[in-house]
Amino acid sequence: MKAANSPDTKIYPHVTYDDVIHALKTKLYTLWQNQWEKQSNQNNKLRQIKPITKKWPDPPVKLTRHEEIMIPRLRIGRTRITHSYLMRRELKPRCETCNCELTVNHIFLECPTYNNARPKANINTSSLKDAVGPGQEKNIVNFIKMANLTTNI
Ligand SMILES: [Zn+2]
Repeated sequence: MKAANSPDTKIYPHVTYDDVIHALKTKLYTLWQNQWEKQSNQNNKLRQIKPITKKWPDPPVKLTRHEEIMIPRLRIGRTRITHSYLMRRELKPRCETCNCELTVNHIFLECPTYNNARPKANINTSSLKDAVGPGQEKNIVNFIKMANLTTNI
């Protein structure tokens, strides 16, 4: 047993319960982030939108309950219009205009049907991450309303 005044002995004066919890949380968040980055599936849609595991800030605007539900559905890419075929045991839906697979990415970034709604709602079309990321909540809601997709999300 080492003496308390040995140079090898670590002394932690005033280490509080909160200090320990903070250190543990920091370590766990780091492990979680590393695990998230090591995912072998490069096509992980959620990671493309949210590359960091840290919680996104709360929306800068007050949202209705329906909007609070709609936004995460759009962010994970699972909406009524794109995924209800699973429950109905039908084929994947295709865009009526473009005849391609109907996805949230297609609706927000590609489909010419919504070319007028995107700039009016200030949708950032550089990437899906920029279109539906944090701080974009009101633009997302406005776009969905202008695109007349409210009941389809
Ligand atoms: Zn289309």
